[in-house]
Amino acid sequence: MRDLSKDRALLAINSATVKSLSLQQLADACARAGISAIAPWRDIVQAAGPEKAGRIVRDARLEVSCLCRGGMFPAADEAGRKAALEDNRRAVDEALAIGARCLVLIAGGLPKDSRDIGGARRQVRDGLAALLEYARAAKMPLALEPLHPMYAADRACVNTLGHANDLCDELGAGLGIALDAYHVWWDPDLKRQIARAGNRIITYHVCDWLVPTKDLLLDRGMPGDGVIDLPAIREMVEATGYDGHIDVEIFSAQNWWKRDPAEVLRVCLERHQTVV
Ligand code: ZN
Repeated sequence: MRDLSKDRALLAINSATVKSLSLQQLADACARAGISAIAPWRDIVQAAGPEKAGRIVRDARLEVSCLCRGGMFPAADEAGRKAALEDNRRAVDEALAIGARCLVLIAGGLPKDSRDIGGARRQVRDGLAALLEYARAAKMPLALEPLHPMYAADRACVNTLGHANDLCDELGAGLGIALDAYHVWWDPDLKRQIARAGNRIITYHVCDWLVPTKDLLLDRGMPGDGVIDLPAIREMVEATGYDGHIDVEIFSAQNWWKRDPAEVLRVCLERHQTVV
């Protein structure tokens, strides 16, 4: 297993962790903290404009582990599905503009008023297949991120690594996996499915599961503050040959988002070197 205490270059800061910062501010804060990689969300890339965002990243010599995120494929009608595909093509373009290693995708949940989760999952497969044509031509890897089952209705109906692996098997080259410890830590089949994923894992995210979790979306913990055995999962991931960044991605409306971003980055780096 890699020694993170000696290699700070393996840390990528996800922009959701320091949500108040623009892309330029994130680049500056990382430079001050001695952090060399980021994982931005599309909002700050779009706010800068993709071209300028690319310049900011290059001027700061930042590596971009991934762009978060596209996906959200299911829709109630054909027009909705077409709009989703067009938006996802723009996301591929944005990922190219900033030199991201991959574009992270989440599946999307049930269309409005639908109870057909099987149908939603078929729409995800079809949406991925359509986007893959564009992404393959652009040489931008797609990384499907299975989300915890609590999001099946509204965010993602792909909830296990096994399901993501099945989709990769079916759809082939160009589709990989974004593995996020927060979403998969509970899965009794995790070890086997990580081994099965192998080199399809193209980005790896961490935060921690707090007990109790007070908000389904916005109460994620700093690594080390919760119950996920992060070193054990990283060992499984690295056993596949994974040698990319480890992104610290924390949605925390009541705690970390309220703190000084410089402090947040300092704690991220410290935890990255000790408990991840
Ligand atoms: Zn994630």
